[in-house]
Amino acid sequence: MAQFRRIRDKSTGWFIYYWWHEFDYLEEILNEKKKFVDTKLRERLRFEVDNYFFLCKNCQTSKTKYNFDDAFELNFRCPDCGSPLVAQDNQKIIDVLKNRLAVTQKFKISIN
Ligand SMILES: [Zn+2]
Repeated sequence: MAQFRRIRDKSTGWFIYYWWHEFDYLEEILNEKKKFVDTKLRERLRFEVDNYFFLCKNCQTSKTKYNFDDAFELNFRCPDCGSPLVAQDNQKIIDVLKNRLAVTQKFKISIN
């Protein structure tokens, strides 16, 4: 939807239209982008908070993370080496995500 302002030119009696379509469009794009980042961060945060992850400390190179259900099915044993799977502290990841969310929310879009 394009917005416009109508002003009447008194000397000619004509109407002059000032269109704000592109202006609004730009603002919309910026807001959509912000919303997208915000949503992605929230989804990731929810995921990290909702899931306890387990990993094998013995397999240092393995970056495989198991959520509770997977770890449970594996009897909390690493499928590669048989070592016990230990719960990963994902508090740091959660803190980083929360900080980034706070920054995103403080960032006010202004194109004036
Ligand atoms: Zn292992």
